[in-house]
Amino acid sequence: MFDCAIIGAGLAGLVAAQHLVERGLSVTVLEARNRVGGRVENKTLNDGSYLELGGQWIGPGFDSLRELIDDLGLDVVGMPAPGNLIVRLRGQALAVPSSEDEPALTPFEVSDLGQGLLRLRRLAERFRSDNAWRKANDAWLNQDLRRWITTNLRTQGAQRRFSEVYAAAFGPMPKECTLLEGLHQVNSGPDLETMLASNGGLHQRRVQGGMATVAEGLAAKLGSVVRLGAEVVKVEHSATSARLHLADGEVVEAKQLISTLPPRLAMALDHEPPLPAWRAEAADKVAPGNVIKAFLVYETPFWREQGLSGQSSADEGPVRVTFDTTAEGAAKGHLMGYFEGADADSLSRRSVTLRERAFIDSAVRSFGQQAAEPLAYFERDWAAERYTGGCHGAHFSPGVWTTNGPVLAEPDGVLHWAGAEYSTRFNGYMEGAVRSGREVAAVVARNLA
Ligand SMILES: Cc1cc2nc3c(=O)[nH]c(=O)nc-3n(C[C@H](O)[C@H](O)[C@H](O)COP(=O)(O)OP(=O)(O)OC[C@H]3O[C@@H](n4cnc5c(N)ncnc54)[C@H](O)[C@@H]3O)c2cc1C
Repeated sequence: MFDCAIIGAGLAGLVAAQHLVERGLSVTVLEARNRVGGRVENKTLNDGSYLELGGQWIGPGFDSLRELIDDLGLDVVGMPAPGNLIVRLRGQALAVPSSEDEPALTPFEVSDLGQGLLRLRRLAERFRSDNAWRKANDAWLNQDLRRWITTNLRTQGAQRRFSEVYAAAFGPMPKECTLLEGLHQVNSGPDLETMLASNGGLHQRRVQGGMATVAEGLAAKLGSVVRLGAEVVKVEHSATSARLHLADGEVVEAKQLISTLPPRLAMALDHEPPLPAWRAEAADKVAPGNVIKAFLVYETPFWREQGLSGQSSADEGPVRVTFDTTAEGAAKGHLMGYFEGADADSLSRRSVTLRERAFIDSAVRSFGQQAAEPLAYFERDWAAERYTGGCHGAHFSPGVWTTNGPVLAEPDGVLHWAGAEYSTRFNGYMEGAVRSGREVAAVVARNLA
């Protein structure tokens, strides 16, 4: 019998395993896929360069992840090239100096923005610490977040930058997003002011060689502790031990168990005894975000010759943001874009050729005719991935996190939960996965002591 079995060899599972093995405990990591990394994955191209199909960007405050990267002796690099951003608004493409180059806001707008962020942070603190206030202001907290922004920031420049920073931190703001959901995000995610101060926010740094090398480095250290192609189909747990049934009929026994599956995926497993009803209800309400991460490969990163960074944002079309993700030293140009939300939903049911066409059209509108003839197109539809079932992280529908969130990470006897979706800080991000893996491993080690 193992001291601990871990379901999933994503960042959370590997980090948890590393910490338990370092404490001299016997551990097995059961991974359904034939690779480690989960939502972190590299695709190697014929010319030896690579694309990062999943989690990639390291932002301010990702301290646990940075420590891990340092321990593994890996290097962190910045954005490939400086330059102007393309902002497409109402059909017009504008080249906007990135605020790293020169301040795009007037001093008045900067001050307005600073006060707006301060107001939001104070509200978030009160929201976190004052239950009575929260209850008394329930109706007001359920107002549209966009409305709050326009009534609390006076200048259009500050309102625009506020929304950009918010989107960079937490992803596109859903149509029905409430102030309450915004405050939850502020409490659980990266610090907006830090992001603003360092400009570019989350989309800042990445690992040389790709984030997948972090997962591979951890797995190499763990050796035979990690078992690939080991899909868990049933979890039995009692007050003192757990039995995991694998798809091929094998049964693995352990004193403690860590599941790193996102809430919805976890519910698809057969559990004995069944998981509490509230957990099933919460998981049901967690709509998995639908993201297709797509890449156009060009002969060269031609946009750089025009003084452009490859970064763009648009107010229409299925691909609204792009980034230059060309690997260090690579000759060819890699332009990455996301199909997100409803657009990804409907396009995921269409052909790859149609999505390629849609991305090229969008790239042409932002970067001109040179974007019309890429050498190749690649994509990863995360909603179609059986062992992921949607991304970036799970997006909690209004009310779900505040009602059930903090207790989703509560253990059920010997069954513990770790992963990006169970972390109170950097929820949904790689940093959240690493922190959660580390924290849950400490709890399990204490239980075994
Ligand atoms: C397109 C995309 C872009 C992203 N960009 C960023 C970014 O730039 N920055 C950032 O911080 N985060 C980003 N993220 C989020 C980040 O990748 C995740 O938060 C993080 O990798 C999750 O790690 P995890 O260990 O919690 O979960 P996972 O990586 O999902 O690990 C769970 C593991 O469990 C395995 N598994 C599933 N079912 C079973 C089963 N039945 N039996 C055994 N094993 C099973 C899976 O194969 C997987 O390996 C992005 C995600 C996506 C998809």
